[in-house]
Amino acid sequence: MEQLPKDETIALRNKYIGKPCQLFFGQDPIKIVRAKGQYMYDEKDEAYLDCINNVAHVGHCHSKVVEAGYEQMKLLSTNNRFLHDNIVICAKRLVETMPEKLNTCFFVNSGSEANDLAIRLSQIHTGNKDIITLEGAYHGHLTSMIDISHYKFSLPGGIGQKDHVHVASSPCTYRGKYNTLNHKLEDICDLYTEEVREICENIVNKKGTGVCAYISESMLCCGGQIIPPPNYFKKVYAHVRAHGGLCIADEVQVGFGRVGTHWWAFQLQDVVPDIVTIGKPMGNGHPVAAVITTADIAESFRKTGVSYFNTYGGNPVSCAIANAVLDVIKEEDLMGNAIEVGNYLFQECLKLKNRHSSIGDVRGVGLFLGLDIVKNREKRTADPEAASFIVAQMKEKRILLSVDGSKNNVIKMKPPMVFSKANVDEVVSMLDRILEQLEQTSPLSRDTDKIPNGVERKV
Ligand code: PMP
Repeated sequence: MEQLPKDETIALRNKYIGKPCQLFFGQDPIKIVRAKGQYMYDEKDEAYLDCINNVAHVGHCHSKVVEAGYEQMKLLSTNNRFLHDNIVICAKRLVETMPEKLNTCFFVNSGSEANDLAIRLSQIHTGNKDIITLEGAYHGHLTSMIDISHYKFSLPGGIGQKDHVHVASSPCTYRGKYNTLNHKLEDICDLYTEEVREICENIVNKKGTGVCAYISESMLCCGGQIIPPPNYFKKVYAHVRAHGGLCIADEVQVGFGRVGTHWWAFQLQDVVPDIVTIGKPMGNGHPVAAVITTADIAESFRKTGVSYFNTYGGNPVSCAIANAVLDVIKEEDLMGNAIEVGNYLFQECLKLKNRHSSIGDVRGVGLFLGLDIVKNREKRTADPEAASFIVAQMKEKRILLSVDGSKNNVIKMKPPMVFSKANVDEVVSMLDRILEQLEQTSPLSRDTDKIPNGVERKV
């Protein structure tokens, strides 16, 4: 399967691929040549346990998904200006997983495209321009998406904040602006939602218009595996709507049953967004994504007289694959697995936290979990070097994790949904050993420069 020796692949990559395209473990990158289920294999056929690839939702290279794509590709792949059953069946099935008013689909090719269309729909429907986004949010790589991705535009070399973009604090009760160190848990939700209300009011007062949209992941991934406090979205949505805006739920990372109890993470808070964007897991590795919205919002778009065409969006192959993914989630009860294995993972990580003071917080729902790594548990001082160290050491043990969050200190887990309890045991016992090793070394000797396989941000 390997066409070139690894050093040649590296040399060609250095020569021909744009340098801003970062590799995982840049100083000692991994060459993956095949994958199955929750395992990836390098050129020496060494298996790596994949704890982070939520794209390979039903397991890498699931035979049913692969066959669905192959069979359809043999028959037909063309644009959606022709009638085809795959797209309408896929749309019907997606709508059936959503609250009733979300009944209209647009098919696109990536999460970025989905969010871009969501913003366009919001602009058309409301006639407004101002977008409220969250601190640490990432919504895609298109120019329009970098504009609203605080994670990117706020970097030292980033483009900075545009006039139409407003950033609300990340609703993190552990490390956010309002947290359980400086406020009572029951007050935190109101403090965060009040901030959104103030932003809405400012938009109306200063610009004389309404809000266009509020966009947020239903649980924040790049932001550091954050689960907003109960009622957060209910209150935020009410403020946004009272000021003329639409509410967009970005489910690109966290959707398709990852939380276990529901198809979509926004359902954990019993809210109904105006627009939902979905992607990554939808194609299990094949590029397909979608926007699901209300008939009214779609009608506003129709009334402009400008039609929507997307060459590959909703093509029969992508939709055959998406339909197969939906089948497998049901047939293999992967949402049930997310509950069972996710709960087990959470409990085992809590035990790990009891044994290791470097874990400040464990947060998670279903197969979505974050470990907040700290230097000092009382003060919650983030320890990005230690988080990097742990991930680099885990990689040496053939277990793939990643780090993210505003302080780069949150270890993320969002594995394929076929993850098992035996996998949890493997990960947790290895983390146990590495944390022990970490806690025996002085923080000084863990300086990032001294970590052989330093870990970089993912997106
Ligand atoms: N939304 C979120 C929350 C994401 O994490 C990402 C990608 N990491 C995107 C949108 C963009 O998706 P894509 O890379 O498929 O364009």
